Amino acid sequence: MCRVLYSGEQEAKLKPNTMNVYIETYGCQMNEYDSEIVKSLLLENDYILVDNPEQADIILLNTCSVREHASRKVIARVHALRHLNNGRQKKIGLLGCMPTNYRRELINDKKLPIDFIAGPDSYKRLASLIDEHIDSGKRTFDIRLSRSETYSDVHPFRAQGVNAWIAVMRGCDNYCTFCVVPYTRGRERSRSVESIVNEARRLAKCGYKQVTLLGQNVNSYQHSEHDFGYLLDKVSEVDGLERIRFTSPHPKDFPRSLLRVVAENDKVCKHIHLPLQAGNTRILDMMNRTYSKEEFLDLVHEIRDFYPDMVLSTDIIVGFPTETETEFDDTVDVVAHVAFDSAFIFKYSERKGTIAARKYPDDVPEAIKTERIVRLNELQKEISLKKNKAHIGQEHKVLIESMTTKKSHTDVQGRNDGNKLVILPGGDYCTGDFVRAKIVDASAHVLKGIVTSVVHAV
Ligand code: SF4
Repeated sequence: MCRVLYSGEQEAKLKPNTMNVYIETYGCQMNEYDSEIVKSLLLENDYILVDNPEQADIILLNTCSVREHASRKVIARVHALRHLNNGRQKKIGLLGCMPTNYRRELINDKKLPIDFIAGPDSYKRLASLIDEHIDSGKRTFDIRLSRSETYSDVHPFRAQGVNAWIAVMRGCDNYCTFCVVPYTRGRERSRSVESIVNEARRLAKCGYKQVTLLGQNVNSYQHSEHDFGYLLDKVSEVDGLERIRFTSPHPKDFPRSLLRVVAENDKVCKHIHLPLQAGNTRILDMMNRTYSKEEFLDLVHEIRDFYPDMVLSTDIIVGFPTETETEFDDTVDVVAHVAFDSAFIFKYSERKGTIAARKYPDDVPEAIKTERIVRLNELQKEISLKKNKAHIGQEHKVLIESMTTKKSHTDVQGRNDGNKLVILPGGDYCTGDFVRAKIVDASAHVLKGIVTSVVHAV
């Protein structure tokens, strides 16, 4: 498998005065992908990538603003890195969502030991921002959001792995009241089908068997007359790719044509991450999710009509402002009714700059939020266990992702089509191989199996 798209070019391009860059990434997969974009752009400008801050002249933190505590963590990290004595004149830059969410504070706070700042749409300017800072000694920044930047002309510098992310769109126009993304990442814009398919072809040539199409709201993907279903079909035609995943769709616009592609195209994995957020229609209205409890349940029924065994996962926020016990019970009811395979459940926390922060006081006491998250997690754990146990005795196709697990150096781990983690004993197969595995045990979080045959050897 190719390690990176620029493998081999880096050494050839080294110049005597090049600087070492270390990047630390926080938050979501989009940030992981953006760090790959940044690495590629810096390599083009003759920087050298290093794996730890001690070796670095330039330290970049690609930040997240989705939770308040994520931002505080980054500021603490900046101070710690500033005090790191690595014998180099290090420069520290902030990238990602914090620059756009905290633009005034970051630009004006002279005490913050930050040398340059680039927002998510300014990475092509990053090398110039570093140069300008070095020349002037002043903090430099570019946090303008773009209506057109998609980085479709940049080949991300990918770390070794079996899955490659492809961002098919950027930004979001939905303005859910609790979310900062429309402000930190700007308006929705999609890449052309051609550029995405070309990227998928390059990845397949490098040996990747799985790609995950990424966007804040993938099913509103639209480029000229082409929608997301069309894009999925086109990517699936790329020879060598065997699995296509996508994340995340919004329940409000899930056309039947897209459901048909997901259900009927063999390469598209039978897993949909469908963020519920809340199960009560009044709270959903306050969140500006634009669907009701009943519409969400109808969509789930429709998905299961198309494909009864579709694996469903979700995101839920408990304790949104004014949420009563009875309204929370509606969320419990939806979770019990849908029986998601897994759920990421969060307590509501106010995020600066959002509509909810301006309009709705965060009035659900912390203790109540804790009670609700515990109750919902317990229910979800029971459901996940029951669903996972139902797989015992079945045979699944598993793509091996790692030659060790958290608990063992002799077991390996991979994922089945439904994105469930499967632990297997090590054997005559390695990362990137597909194996057939009989499921012999299950917990709420993982399946355990034995390998019955190796489907591919690379
Ligand atoms: S759909 Fe809503 S939650 Fe998702 S990124 Fe857009 S505004 Fe945020």
